[in-house]
Order: sequence, then C-alpha cells, then structure tokens
Amino acid sequence: MKAAVFRSPGVLEIAERPDPTELSADELLIEVECCGLCGSDVHALAVPPGHPTAPDVVMGHEFVGHVVDRGAGMDAVDIGARVVVDPDPSCGACRNCQRGMPSACLNVRAIGVVRDGGLARLCRLPARATFAIAEEVSASMAAIAEPLACVVHGVERSSLKPGDSAVIFGGGSIGCMFAALFHAAGAYPTVVVEPAARRREIALQCGADDAFSPEAWDRGRDGLLPFGADVVVDAVGSLFPQTLAAVATGGRVVLIGMNSTARAEIAQNDITRRGVSIFGSYITNFTFPTAIRLLERGTPDLSPIVTHRLTLDEVHSGLDLLRSGEALKVVIDLTGTG
Ligand SMILES: [Zn+2]
Ligand SMILES: [Zn+2]
Repeated sequence: MKAAVFRSPGVLEIAERPDPTELSADELLIEVECCGLCGSDVHALAVPPGHPTAPDVVMGHEFVGHVVDRGAGMDAVDIGARVVVDPDPSCGACRNCQRGMPSACLNVRAIGVVRDGGLARLCRLPARATFAIAEEVSASMAAIAEPLACVVHGVERSSLKPGDSAVIFGGGSIGCMFAALFHAAGAYPTVVVEPAARRREIALQCGADDAFSPEAWDRGRDGLLPFGADVVVDAVGSLFPQTLAAVATGGRVVLIGMNSTARAEIAQNDITRRGVSIFGSYITNFTFPTAIRLLERGTPDLSPIVTHRLTLDEVHSGLDLLRSGEALKVVIDLTGTG
C-alpha cells in the first residue's frame, strides 16, 4: 500500500509499504477513509523537530475508517464497524491511569508517532484505541473527532457556565472549536484573538461574537471587557502573559496550545492577589464519547473548520497550507488510495 512515511526530521516520503498482517489478539485492522493533518505533524517535520517521531513510521493520528479484520480476542467487534481513533491509547495499568489521568499514561505508544498511523489505506491498532461513530457523519467531520475530544477536555477544565465571558487566543482549528463549544454552552461574548483575517472569519462562522487581530484587541479590550473575561484560553502555546492580562479577577485560564520552547515572564502576584486559576489541558480525558455525540448531532456546525480535502499524493501541499496559515484543518482522503 501507499503510505506517508516519516524518514528523518523534515523528510516525509510517499512510499510503498506491505499491507499489515498478523494482528495481535487485541488489535483491529482499519481501512482508513480520511485522516486529518495536525499542527503537531508540522512541528514533527520541522528542522529541528518540535517533537520527536520514530523513523519509518506512517504518520497521521486523526482518522476514521472501517474495521476490516480483527485479532483473535476481538470477536465482539463487528467487521464493517465504523470507528474513530484515540491516537494515545492509555494502558490502564500505570500509576497515572489508575489515578484517572490517562492523558499522562506512562506507557503510551502514540499512533502516527511511534507506531504506524492513518496516512495509508490500512492501519493496525489496539482495539481499545477505537470508538464507534455513526455512518451519517461525513468522513471529513469524523476525522476531527480527536482534536474535538481535546477541546471538550479543555472546555471541561474551564468550568465555563452560561453567561460567562470568554477570550480565546489563536483562531486555528483548536481555537475555532473552542469558540463553537463556548458559544453553544451559553458564553457571552465569545471573543477570538487571531492575526490571520481568514481565520478570524472562520471563527465568526463557528460562533465567536467578535474576532480581533492582536493589535485591535489591545486597543479594544478595555471597552469590550473592562473587568476582563471569566475564561481565557491560550490555543497557541506561548501567550500565558496575554491570558493573564485578559482574565478577570477570580477567572480561569486554560493553557492548551503547545510550544515546548516558550518561556513566559509573568508577575506571579497577579495570579495570587486576583485569585486566578490556571489549568493545563493535555490531549483527551474520557472525552471521545462527548466529541462523537457532538459530531453525530451536527450541532454546533463545525464544518467551516475543515478548509481543505486532498489526496495522499498532495500531503506535502497540505502541510504547506498549514505552515502558511492559509488552511485551518486539512484532511487527506484515503479512499481509493492504492
Ligand atoms: Zn492532532
Ligand atoms: Zn497508563
């Protein structure tokens, strides 16, 4: 089969791979329909890489497909079942899993990072990494189940209530999903701060009440939210000081964007004196079922987030579209791929 294979930092190759065979007892074989490209794929392909990927691994960790074969212990799973994938299946047995923090599992073998992922027609993976999803959900929408489950986790961390005001820094796919879910949860206003005009437009389509460039936000924020926002999200990964400037006394800050090299200078006393709560939110936390319910219901409408649908041969252009900021979410259609 044809696959997008990570060779070395900066090098992703479309290569021939043997079809996976010999499933372990706990594994399923998935025929992939659609696989999203992620900001973390762009980081993994940067030189030097923003986070490590194993050489010769098939990339792709945001995907949907159908079960076409199952290991000896997986009789309960129907052949033909449609599933989305948690690319970070937790072991259930380590100290962090047993304390209810699967996102911090000590034994994760991330799919599309250290074991083969979804940028190929077929992918074998542990059955516990899969969640059923209805056929009615389009393949490109089903492919965003994983990032949506991350955002559902972040929304839970924020404890946002109807009537709370919210500011989201970053209008990429994660920021726009926050805008949609905060709006649906009754936040007012929901504000997105994002430099790219096209992304601001999509944030508004997703349910944001306002979208500002960073400069316009600095000028306008005191008029709009003189006491600050109840909930502030950093969906970029390096804007902790900006979130503290935007949050109200007693408010909550959720840090979900990831940038391992960012170092912030903050006045710690601002947090102490104003009773601000800071929450880190990393990947998912039993939030796939909620994300899938949202996609199956189709409300809020998240379709503006998928801006490009390409073939496997076009994966490099897809990554370039993400690098340039022109795309929000790019999905790769694997149906009909050799
Ligand atoms: Zn991702
Ligand atoms: Zn574990």
